Amino acid sequence: MAFVSGLKCRECGRENPVEPLNVCEFCFGPLEVEYDYATIREVISHQRISEGPLSIWRYQDLLPASGDDPVDIMAGFTPLLKAGNLGKRLGLNNLYIKNDSVNPSFSFKDRVVSVACTKAVEFGFDTLSCASTGNLACSVAAHAARAGIRSVVFIPSDLERGKIIGAAVYGPTLVAVDGTYDEVNRLCSEIADNYPWAFVNINMRPYYAEGSKTLGYEVAEQLGWRLPDHVVIPSASGAMFTKIWKGFNELACLGLLDGVKGLPFGPDQNTVHHPAVTTKMHMTQAAGCSPIVTAWQTGQSQVIPLRPDTIAKSLAIGNPADGIYALRVLRESEGSAYAVPEHEIVEGIKLLAETEGIFTETAGGVTMSGLKHLAEIGAIKPDELTVVYITGNGLKTQEAVEGLVNPLCIRPTMTSFENALNERVAVGG
Ligand SMILES: *Cc1c(COP(=O)(O)O)cnc(C)c1O
Ligand SMILES: [Zn+2]
Repeated sequence: MAFVSGLKCRECGRENPVEPLNVCEFCFGPLEVEYDYATIREVISHQRISEGPLSIWRYQDLLPASGDDPVDIMAGFTPLLKAGNLGKRLGLNNLYIKNDSVNPSFSFKDRVVSVACTKAVEFGFDTLSCASTGNLACSVAAHAARAGIRSVVFIPSDLERGKIIGAAVYGPTLVAVDGTYDEVNRLCSEIADNYPWAFVNINMRPYYAEGSKTLGYEVAEQLGWRLPDHVVIPSASGAMFTKIWKGFNELACLGLLDGVKGLPFGPDQNTVHHPAVTTKMHMTQAAGCSPIVTAWQTGQSQVIPLRPDTIAKSLAIGNPADGIYALRVLRESEGSAYAVPEHEIVEGIKLLAETEGIFTETAGGVTMSGLKHLAEIGAIKPDELTVVYITGNGLKTQEAVEGLVNPLCIRPTMTSFENALNERVAVGG
């Protein structure tokens, strides 16, 4: 049983029924899931959560699909690691990595897709679909396989091999489009009007997006029901950024944070900011596609679409659906937004790999370089509790770091080995 009471328009506030629907029938504003928080408050507790499965479905009371028989390949409940070596390098004594690169299809997208796929099956769809920058296609194909339904996934044709293969292996109908993600997405909106398919990020978007709240819940639970002082997050559409903030505030309002008194939810349930939630939300984007950062830095209330040109392809959305809501979260949390120069993305990947033994993709390189910047300018103080979200796996974007491969090539003899080793030492390698 899910405690969903309806879909509420984020612009005009009108109620819409619980259907496969993403825009308001009155004003075309985006819809957001509305919950019966009064009932949730009665049933939810730390104990009930801790007795749940080791996946996002331990938070089923706060998700918009029934957790009784979810489509679950065990997304979520990923490690939160204390980052001692990296912290020392950056002068941060209280730094943690939320390693979401170890999800079943190797990105955080499994969280959102598990929810969307469960809801799609609930609605009776037999085909799961999406417009993807790469990771979403992998996750949609994987969850559809698990659910025993068909999948049709649309990607820009110039994606990394690891993402194309990482989707194809699950047996979807893979459609490679000669165009940008934004063009793929526009095409899919048209297809969604004509085919009775569940597009996770179009007609299922309100349910899908809620899955990212679990990135907030888990970090709070893993920290002993506390919130960090700072979080650093990569953004494409901006959805994950807004949902982590929503997750933090839901926990506070429900009285689930240590030492924090709950609050009644207001009439506009989705924008309640609990005063005890003081986490600063820091957004990172790649310089080659940073429309939300640009809007924030220039004080615009609208996000101006652009044509992406970045190696962080998973973040290459030029027209971000949740951009203006992400700007609101930046204001409410007194956060910041930073565009990482393209040449620093690979350096970020290397920094994380060499200090903590975690291989992330280009989106993670963006996040790492963003974190480094925040430490350098003093936006994060040495003892403040900081969590950096690593959302995707490096094995999917090997092209970006191929240039690092430089083995000692030898014959199978001791002499050959020692000559090569000495030569390398001589050049300082
Ligand atoms: C999709 C994606 C993001 C961005 O998510 P949004 O909710 O669209 O902002 C970040 N990191 C990775 C690895 C992704 O695949
Ligand atoms: Zn509306």
